Amino acid sequence: MKVFITGGAGFIGSHLAERLVAAGHQVLVLDDLSTGSIENIDHLIGRKGFDYRIGSVLDAPLVAEMVDRCDITVHLAAAVGVRLIVEQPVHTIHNNVAGTETVLNAAARKRKLVVVASTSEVYGKRNHVPFREDDDLMLGPTIHSRWAYACSKALDEWLALAYMHEKGVPVIVTRFFNTVGPRQTARYGMVLPAFAAQALAGEPITVYGTGEQSRCFGHVEDVVEAVVRLMTTPAAVGQVVNIGNDEEVTINQLAERVRAAAGSRSPIVRIPYDQAYAEGFEDMLRRVPDVSKLERIIGFRPTTSLNEIIADVLEDKRAALAVA
Ligand code: UDP
Repeated sequence: MKVFITGGAGFIGSHLAERLVAAGHQVLVLDDLSTGSIENIDHLIGRKGFDYRIGSVLDAPLVAEMVDRCDITVHLAAAVGVRLIVEQPVHTIHNNVAGTETVLNAAARKRKLVVVASTSEVYGKRNHVPFREDDDLMLGPTIHSRWAYACSKALDEWLALAYMHEKGVPVIVTRFFNTVGPRQTARYGMVLPAFAAQALAGEPITVYGTGEQSRCFGHVEDVVEAVVRLMTTPAAVGQVVNIGNDEEVTINQLAERVRAAAGSRSPIVRIPYDQAYAEGFEDMLRRVPDVSKLERIIGFRPTTSLNEIIADVLEDKRAALAVA
């Protein structure tokens, strides 16, 4: 099959492209390199079946051309990373909503399948875990820009489902939970690459808030496997599906485990949220996916253990340090 990946030079996108090319599929990537990078796809450039364009998902004629050339579009291009979202809310809202509409509009002409990437952020401040796809969403007030991301992604979900019901475009909405693994940069503030880099450099490991907030970390290869299975499963069409691992860990425990696995003596320091992000920043206390729907539809769910994930991320960071 021919797959068009927006945001294909990003962290998840580049792993998806790699997985598809390895399976003999054709992949077309569009990326504006705002948070993605050429290094992510360097090893794919020149490989049979792989092609890419540097450009924006807001460029309607370009997006239409690429959608037309492919059978399926996986729309991953979006503003990522909580810090970026707090610092650039206008960019976040515009890119996420207008970008998704551009893709859906292009797909509507020939009713081509679109996988729309959403996020566990849409569950917002719910503290009743695990989160199920039909749960109510609980977002914070508009004075806190963090929630603009969740809201823009929720709107993307509504847009996708509306295009399906009104215009007959087959869509699948995937809600990604914290996804980590090799090649994820610490530049946008994501916790695991940040802790791994700090531990290896012997620098303080920066835990924000009390560190008692928890997350579940899915290995990017598991997550990509789930996406590939979903996009080739007819029963997934029209569905909103959580994709994540359900092994829960507090950020304090994560800091300890990364430090131990790295054999590091870094001190673990706590930084208040308003210093780490912005005044009045609101975090989610817990975030655990209910993955029973995913498992029911595709017979698979992410299960790589946190120990293996930490080991993989450390190995990748060590290798990057050795090259630098
Ligand atoms: N976090 C942290 N130190 C860091 C980066 C993040 O303690 O250097 C915390 C962050 O406040 C959140 C959790 O780790 O509670 C996960 O953050 P991340 O940005 O990776 O993903 P989020 O779950 O916020 O989307």
